[in-house]
Amino acid sequence: MRSHPDACPGAVELHQAADGGLARIRVPGGTLSAAQWDVVRLAALELGSGSLELTSRANLQIRGLADGLELGARLRAAGLLPSDTHERIRNIIAAPLEPNQPLVDALDAALCADPALASLPGRFLVTVGSSVSGLGGDFGRVDDVLLLAGTDTGVRVHDPVDAVVTAARLFQELRGSAWRLSEVDDGVRKITEHFGTTDAARITPAVTPVAPSPTTPGVPLGRLDAQLLPGVPVRLTPWRSLVVPAGTDVSGLITDPASPWHGVSACTGRPGCAKSLSDVRADVQEWLARPELSDPLEMIGMGTRSPQGALQSGSIPQRPVHWSGCSRRCGRPAGDVIEFVATGDGYEEIR
Ligand code: SF4
Repeated sequence: MRSHPDACPGAVELHQAADGGLARIRVPGGTLSAAQWDVVRLAALELGSGSLELTSRANLQIRGLADGLELGARLRAAGLLPSDTHERIRNIIAAPLEPNQPLVDALDAALCADPALASLPGRFLVTVGSSVSGLGGDFGRVDDVLLLAGTDTGVRVHDPVDAVVTAARLFQELRGSAWRLSEVDDGVRKITEHFGTTDAARITPAVTPVAPSPTTPGVPLGRLDAQLLPGVPVRLTPWRSLVVPAGTDVSGLITDPASPWHGVSACTGRPGCAKSLSDVRADVQEWLARPELSDPLEMIGMGTRSPQGALQSGSIPQRPVHWSGCSRRCGRPAGDVIEFVATGDGYEEIR
């Protein structure tokens, strides 16, 4: 059980990183109007490092901030910070190619309207739609199914907003110091019973495997030059890609479906993170630029080939690949992921 509260950054309460203040801007459903997108782009350019980071929850981060005051004022004026008390719990991922934003907005408003939910952990997560149901939500909605910790226990609901708020309240009552529903002893069963479903047997799982998404323009290693895409409405995806209107100039993004950059992600690493044992992003870029090297461990001098030997630079990996500068493995995508973690002398492979 956790012995300390989570330290997820917000848009106003920043995380102090080695390269300055880090703000995480929640974008429920990932949808930003053209005007809102320009507000965050300009904030990154004028107040931060000039880049926008896309997270595995389809949120945005700005680095290199002096403080959160000016950023908070700009976000409030743009409608991107509707609640100072609930901002860190506004974690709603939605299937990005479905017309589900009205439901996301209703869920967001209802969660923010309940004072008891302000102290949910910043790790709290709701998913909307089948293609994101495998991303580790505490609660998920697929048609009339209410998933609990990613599992279909038989709960069927007609009012998803009321159901998610009710389930979130129960989680808050039960959770003690736990951050996620999956960590609460018997939490799934107790919430299932509350909804009147007594059959504890698992019903057909409504979980869809998560795969890299080559169908929407990808953001290389999740970090975007904030000069790009001025005046464009965007939808952020949890695969660190963007949905933009047809005809948009997508220079600087990954658009070739055969690009080896699809599905590859990395944590901040050096110099932005003081804990990092390596300049992870530079190492990944070197690997991706040298297709003649078939194994990243070989490139980095570890000398141990992976037993499966299936991962090759210069080709789309079958599974997402994530690189980290230390064992915390920040930003690791949910699901089945090939990982490389810096050790100080190279990288250790985790499968
Ligand atoms: S995984 Fe480690 S090195 Fe990378 S951002 Fe997290 S704490 Fe820093």
